[in-house]
Amino acid sequence: MKKKKVANMLLTNYLLLFIFSTIIFIIVSLIISVSFKGLIKYEEIPELSAAQVMKDDYKTIDFSKILKYRGGIQVIDKNYKIVFSRGINPQNVTQYTSKFSEFLINSGKSQRKYHYSVAYNSNSDFWLEIVIPRKPQLVNGVFFDKDGIPIAIDNIIFILFLGALINVTSFIFGLIFYSRITSNNFVKPLKKLLSGVTKIASGDYSARVDLKSENEFGDLKDAFNLMAKKIESEKNLKEKSQDNRRKLILDISHDLKTPLSNIIGYSDLLLNNKDISENDREKFLAVILNNGTRANSLIGDLFELSKMGSPDFKLKLKSIDICEYLRELIASIIPQIEKSGFESCFEIPVGKKIILIDEAQIDRALLNILNNAFKYNPPGTQIKIVLKSFLSKVVIEIEDNGIGIPPEMSEEIFEPFKRVDSARNSQTGGTGLGLAITKTIIEKHNGQISLETAVGKGCKFIIELNS
Ligand code: ADP
Repeated sequence: MKKKKVANMLLTNYLLLFIFSTIIFIIVSLIISVSFKGLIKYEEIPELSAAQVMKDDYKTIDFSKILKYRGGIQVIDKNYKIVFSRGINPQNVTQYTSKFSEFLINSGKSQRKYHYSVAYNSNSDFWLEIVIPRKPQLVNGVFFDKDGIPIAIDNIIFILFLGALINVTSFIFGLIFYSRITSNNFVKPLKKLLSGVTKIASGDYSARVDLKSENEFGDLKDAFNLMAKKIESEKNLKEKSQDNRRKLILDISHDLKTPLSNIIGYSDLLLNNKDISENDREKFLAVILNNGTRANSLIGDLFELSKMGSPDFKLKLKSIDICEYLRELIASIIPQIEKSGFESCFEIPVGKKIILIDEAQIDRALLNILNNAFKYNPPGTQIKIVLKSFLSKVVIEIEDNGIGIPPEMSEEIFEPFKRVDSARNSQTGGTGLGLAITKTIIEKHNGQISLETAVGKGCKFIIELNS
């Protein structure tokens, strides 16, 4: 899936704000225009005639209706001079000429924009001219002039002003909403990451951050979780290795304690009992020798193992023909096979396969396995050595059909002091370090060792070495 960037998130939020404001703008405009339609009323103008409103004293004429329809009145004296004017005066003059008589003839007719009505007052000697616009006029509105006439233009300005005000307000709210969403998108993941970091800092290495983001915060979360996982596994490894070391020291002290106690016990017996028979003396000395040898081989094996674990340990590698090497090894164990009453079977390919090994160390590794087979299995057991040669590796299989090892121990049996049955071991005189040494040697050669086993079926050690 393509990663979402923070920039894309910001753009999305911005677009949301834009859409939100536009929708509010449209809704507000619609509401305003609908509600103001009710406020604005237009009315057809009745045809007002000058004769109808005529009064001898023109000052007493009620011209409010004329003005309401945005018309005008003019009072003209016998010299055609306009002596009184209210409202509109489309001719835009203060003095008519003689042509006024012509105008009077046509006045009753409707002109393009205005309707004119003229009447003569013979008592007071003046003409009254009424001008009324022909279009329907706005008669109701929000703003009115001093004569109570609605002002259409102000209505529009007012609507626009109100609309703009509402829109600006909604935009500000939108902006607050936008900043909330945006900061949420930043603050939330940051808070989660911070709580994860705090947990790690306080020693809780199981802390993980759960974040749905697929942007850079998502990457940060992945990196954080990976780091936490690594720290946790390092910590577990450290704890495990500390545990192992503690256990190793315990095992060493325990395994050394028995032979040393025996040696001290029997030496003490010999020293403090002068009248011991020659026979017993020999028996006790044999026990001392036995336990001394046991303690010595334990210390020897431990020394070997820790030497190999040190970074300074270097293999003395040599190119050898592994087929020939194994043939010689088999030849060297034939007497042992016969002595133990074992059967044998070997499958070594004819020809050569050159690999790089430290011969002495591999000798030690393979002999540990072979000696175990002799040590732990009864006569009649078959021992089988097979060499499989591949392009870039060789596989050596050492198999017996003896008593076997519980399969659940097939990995841990390679750990120091791991034994199937300690009673069985004390009889055989093993140190519990043989397979640990073997594994270390194979791994020093960048190889691998594994065990296939089942109780009563035997053991099959599989060693892979690079060629
Ligand atoms: P040890 O000195 O006790 O022989 P190892 O590390 O060599 O130590 O072997 C570990 C244990 O594995 C032995 O104590 C034994 O119980 C078991 N074991 C090893 N090889 C065999 C085998 N071929 N058949 C049965 N048990 C075996």
